[in-house]
Amino acid sequence: MKSDTDDLPTLEKARALAARGALADPAAIDASVAAAQAIAREPVETRKLAGIVLHADVLRRESWEEEVELPPALFERYPTSTPDVPEHFRAEGYQLIDASRGAKHAKCKNCFLSPGTILCTRCFGQPTPDEGTCVYCNGAPVTCTMCDGSGETVRATLRHVNDRPVAVRRAFVPALPEAVAALVAAVVDASVTPPAAQQFALQANVVESAYRGASALRAPEYRGHQFGEALDAALAAERELDRYTDVVKREVRAYAWPILLLRFSEPDDRWIAVLDDADGTLRILGVDSREARRRT
Ligand SMILES: [Zn+2]
Ligand SMILES: [Zn+2]
Repeated sequence: MKSDTDDLPTLEKARALAARGALADPAAIDASVAAAQAIAREPVETRKLAGIVLHADVLRRESWEEEVELPPALFERYPTSTPDVPEHFRAEGYQLIDASRGAKHAKCKNCFLSPGTILCTRCFGQPTPDEGTCVYCNGAPVTCTMCDGSGETVRATLRHVNDRPVAVRRAFVPALPEAVAALVAAVVDASVTPPAAQQFALQANVVESAYRGASALRAPEYRGHQFGEALDAALAAERELDRYTDVVKREVRAYAWPILLLRFSEPDDRWIAVLDDADGTLRILGVDSREARRRT
């Protein structure tokens, strides 16, 4: 049976991993022997924290218009209504006739002498006996390209609509002791999508259960793990999305990335962070103090 903490980093799991990791997978653990020794002791301080991975998709719709003169058949083929907002966030281009601007049918100015056809620009419709039949027009009438042979054009307003997706993938971690801050930041990876169960409503406050008509606000958390400084940073990043104009569609998903922060005083004073990496493998960071020093 799954317990409440099955997908949360815990001291017990870290101890089990450290014990196993000493023999098994040195890559999954930073210094297995040191980890096993350190983690086996009782931490003097335990903090349940969480980073935030923010995935935001925005679809911007830009449009511009152009006065065009089209063959009637082509004019009829263009849609006249703005495309629906698509299901996806992909770049796409549309063209449509702005019906509100009206459309004017007129005789084609390009072929008014012989409606629908124009003179061959190579032989000017005058085949010469010594050169034989013109290879360009084959002696036949040349179809007018402006009216496509109809002898008539439509002046209308063509609207170009371009949908352009913007994908924001960012990760935020709460303030952490220097010894583990960079190590943790390197593991909390914005490019992966954490499990759906870790998605939460990104908001500044949640309403605590109402009691006798009174309600209290508290900062959101993820199953007892506090977001700390990551929350304000993620909220600020979400507000930054407002700078995009002409937005037709927007989706923001925030995921919690639980972090267990432990402080040990023996054999020396050190911070250890326990968290899953992007593959869902539990990592124990900060065990090897040389690693922390290398990073500074
Ligand atoms: Zn010709
Ligand atoms: Zn024409």
